Amino acid sequence: MNQEPLNFHEMNLSSETLRAIEDMGFEEATPIQSQCIAQIQAGQDVIGQSQTGTGKTAAFGIPLLERIDQNLPKVQALILCPTRELAIQISEEFNKLLRYRKGVRVIPIYGGQPIERQISALKKGVQVVVGTPGRVMDHMQRRTLKLSETSIAVLDEADEMLDMGFREDIEFILDKLRDDRQTLLFSATMPTAILELTKMYQNNPKHITVIRNTLTVPSIEQVYFEVRESLKLEALCRLIDVESPTLSLVFCNTKKRVDEITEQLQGRGYFAESLHGDLKQVQRDLVMRKFRNRTLEILVATDVAARGIDVDDIDIVFNYDLPQDEEYYIHRIGRTGRAGRAGQSFTFVAGREIYKLREIMRHTKATIKRGKMPTLIDIEEIKTRQFTEKIKSIMEDGHLSKYVNIVESLGDYSTMDIAAALFKFHLHDEDANTEDVLFEEPRNYHDFDRHEEKSKQKSNKKAKTDKNMARLFITIGKRDKVQPRDIVGAIANESGISGKIIGNIDIYDDFTFVDVPKNTIKKILSTMSSAKIKGRKVKIEWAKPKR
Ligand code: ADP
Ligand code: MG
Repeated sequence: MNQEPLNFHEMNLSSETLRAIEDMGFEEATPIQSQCIAQIQAGQDVIGQSQTGTGKTAAFGIPLLERIDQNLPKVQALILCPTRELAIQISEEFNKLLRYRKGVRVIPIYGGQPIERQISALKKGVQVVVGTPGRVMDHMQRRTLKLSETSIAVLDEADEMLDMGFREDIEFILDKLRDDRQTLLFSATMPTAILELTKMYQNNPKHITVIRNTLTVPSIEQVYFEVRESLKLEALCRLIDVESPTLSLVFCNTKKRVDEITEQLQGRGYFAESLHGDLKQVQRDLVMRKFRNRTLEILVATDVAARGIDVDDIDIVFNYDLPQDEEYYIHRIGRTGRAGRAGQSFTFVAGREIYKLREIMRHTKATIKRGKMPTLIDIEEIKTRQFTEKIKSIMEDGHLSKYVNIVESLGDYSTMDIAAALFKFHLHDEDANTEDVLFEEPRNYHDFDRHEEKSKQKSNKKAKTDKNMARLFITIGKRDKVQPRDIVGAIANESGISGKIIGNIDIYDDFTFVDVPKNTIKKILSTMSSAKIKGRKVKIEWAKPKR
């Protein structure tokens, strides 16, 4: 089925829909859209399988919305999806498609939102409901959602819904729908459980699979790095420094790992936060909002939590842990390079995992190139280049007379020397080239610790304003309503040092940086290992600033 992508004008769509698609900036249909739209419009049951990011929402949304009768105030289509984020995202995409058809109303319904609000919205006569199975079932049982006129049902991300244990709810819902309905199922993967579901609930479905030729994969550069476990964090930081992505997504295999890596990244001064199943919905929303508006640069996530993330411009996906399942590899890297943008994926492989990576390559037919870690020398070069570029752009902007005066006042020195000294001041790193943990095989762990200690001291020296001060990182922040005096009080009480000698305190949402005299660090860390602030147990660490 290697059909060329179609132009939307070649399809039999209403002028209102075509204008809306035009406004959305879609130039041509994606392969899954090209193959699904006409079939769905004709009333055919469809199983649509393609990777994440290939435009499945519009593949069913466009033909489905075309079939809605805007003069009939009854629920005519029901879309089931696994998460609240997805329900909202699908509704939003539908509303964009409906821009020139004001008579059709869509609402998302999901757990966590007050049910009364949804009930009154449903009463207003909506034609399209996008919901999570649990909440949809709830409304059906309360009879606040009537599906007697529902002639189209969609299961979006069916694999994910089954993984999340929604099978019974889905069956309950589908059993109550009209028999003559059209049933559409979309999924990135097709495990047997899904095929069973299609046998039971679909009528002679057409299976449309698009594996390659997708929007995403060709534009993604996939690279792997052989890195031992204990050096992964260093490797991650170094790649982030070199590539300077605006947004990146780091995948770990467990929730615990996610939290660990997030804390370590925060400790090194990166704006990182966790996303996993233990977070409450409000916390997830907050994290996602920050990621979207870029106050957060790194999102560390588990596979399940990252599903349904609707952020299109993730620059790099890191597989910090090699995914356990080959399918996950595809899902993960599909988070970058969305909608035709360039993206990169970096995969860490420790020891024998290289065999597993080969399996992934065979299974997914992906080409994953072996990459070489940037050395500290590379990083220095890149920083020099970045700094030089910045200086050039400042010179181009002009408005320098105030500073020219300063340089002139140093008349005894040549301008060349002054400029060179400024570069040295900004870029100099006295032992940058001498040792590089990533390229030395430490003889044993003591050796590694020594390296770590050294680089800690080195970075601290650079970051603090006063060379006798050092930064502490504490895992409590604004969200816990912590105040500077709580921090000062806790440190002074526990470690017995005077609150007066504590320096700057920067409180962020989830963590705090505190400057303290270097010679008190040992004492503070040793006395505060199980300290509580505002009644909450906190971790306190010596912060390593971003290089
Ligand atoms: P999937 O459900 O397959 O993971 P989505 O439906 O979420 O993919 O689409 C991913 C992104 O691609 C969205 O931002 C969507 O607006 C965009 N998109 C969909 N169809 C097209 C198209 N034909 N051309 C360009 N972008 C598209
Ligand atoms: Mg989707």
